[in-house]
Amino acid sequence: EAKKEGRNNYQFYNEKFDFQSSDLFLLETELRKADISKHFKLHFQPIVDLKTNAATSAEALIRWQHPELGLISPEKFIKIAEDTGLIIPIGEWVLRKVCQELKARQERGLSPMNFSVNLSLRQFFDSSFVSTVASILTEEGINPAYITLEITESMTMDVEKATQILYQLKDLGVEISIDDFGTGYSSLQYLQKFPIDYLKIDKSFIQNIGENMDDCSIASTIIVMAHNLGLKVIAEGVETEEQVSVLKGMNCEKAQGYYYSKPLPLNELHLIESDLGSWL
Ligand code: C2E
Ligand code: MG
Ligand code: MG
Ligand code: MG
Repeated sequence: EAKKEGRNNYQFYNEKFDFQSSDLFLLETELRKADISKHFKLHFQPIVDLKTNAATSAEALIRWQHPELGLISPEKFIKIAEDTGLIIPIGEWVLRKVCQELKARQERGLSPMNFSVNLSLRQFFDSSFVSTVASILTEEGINPAYITLEITESMTMDVEKATQILYQLKDLGVEISIDDFGTGYSSLQYLQKFPIDYLKIDKSFIQNIGENMDDCSIASTIIVMAHNLGLKVIAEGVETEEQVSVLKGMNCEKAQGYYYSKPLPLNELHLIESDLGSWL
């Protein structure tokens, strides 16, 4: 309880995850000890093109496989990784791993698929971020057009700086998405300045479309606005067939969610990929 007063991060966690402060200390200690390439793994969730029903891309989502505590979700450790700075090596590992998986796909002769990578605030504004991305792309020798970087509205805290970073990233040839769109309480001004390709509508606006007219209006307004700005739209958290048909009616380009698939280990992604087209 004492921590609730002074330490905002801890308060946030206690509310959102019902974490005890001792759990946070434990996770922080364990995170500092973790061997990144050994204890972390990536799952991939397909993103489906609503016109063709093909899984044209997939989002990489990190999992922490702790030897005693089991599988720990990113919602429980990304904030700690940010606060401790460990997000820098973890984020680098994620991008490198994704590039290596892309290359492995190519070598296995699988159809090209775009992979998206989540960035966190501290990583994005780190002074060596752009050069790190550039060297990973070169070292791994992949076509950057197959990488999408997902940023959140939290990165609009410094629009000028963020715009500068995004132009440098676009110059490298990657695509940019705004993740969790609509949840960031930020002004929409950045939409005219940032060189972005996709808006991902947050799942909270997708969950009740079909039943709730207000949610339908928000989703359709976001889609119309995005199209007017020349952006494509991905709906996240799609769980039902009804949501899919509503989104198709709104001309939403892509969808991602449990309706299609949960995030999967890469070898399972290969397996379901070809199925997606035939089931739907
Ligand atoms: P996100 O980027 O918005 O990713 C989508 C989250 O929604 C994932 O949770 C995914 O499993 C979940 N999801 C997908 N479809 C559905 C659905 O139909 N219904 C519901 N209820 N949920 C769905 P996950 O994997 O637990 O990741 C949570 C968040 O952690 C991500 O949200 C992202 O912000 C962050 N994250 C994940 N991997 C990384 C990473 O490598 N780096 C950074 N910085 N953050 C990451
Ligand atoms: Mg994301
Ligand atoms: Mg998201
Ligand atoms: Mg989200």
